[in-house]
Amino acid sequence: MDAASITGGCACGAVRYRIAGAPLVSVTCQCGSCRRAAAAPIVAWIHVEESDFAITAGAPVAHASSPDVTRTFCGRCGTPLTYRKVGYAAKLDVTTCSLDAPDAFPPIVHVWTSHALGWVALADGLPCLPEGPPED
Ligand SMILES: [Zn+2]
Ligand SMILES: [Zn+2]
Repeated sequence: MDAASITGGCACGAVRYRIAGAPLVSVTCQCGSCRRAAAAPIVAWIHVEESDFAITAGAPVAHASSPDVTRTFCGRCGTPLTYRKVGYAAKLDVTTCSLDAPDAFPPIVHVWTSHALGWVALADGLPCLPEGPPED
């Protein structure tokens, strides 16, 4: 993974960010919380060191989607940007599809497949975890 030039932002361009290091892992999530937050059947995430992540323009809005989870999004256009769980310590998830080059970071596993909608069928052969990833 090319860590030199990982940048991204929201759809309207108000919020931009940069990630200094390589993602630790790339996943998709089908949990009900991600699904509702993005209004999408599947949400792709890269997991990064929080210290590697920096907002370079704008200021995302934060929302506590669970008592221990903070999600951020653009307050103008609504693009979901990050997910941070208390148990993550110094890690952060960033929506893969807010990256400028999302194709550079394909998922290696699908999580929360037990929450999958009945009309979603994955056929890429990647491992599936019925529930979430192990806490780190
Ligand atoms: Zn925006
Ligand atoms: Zn999720």
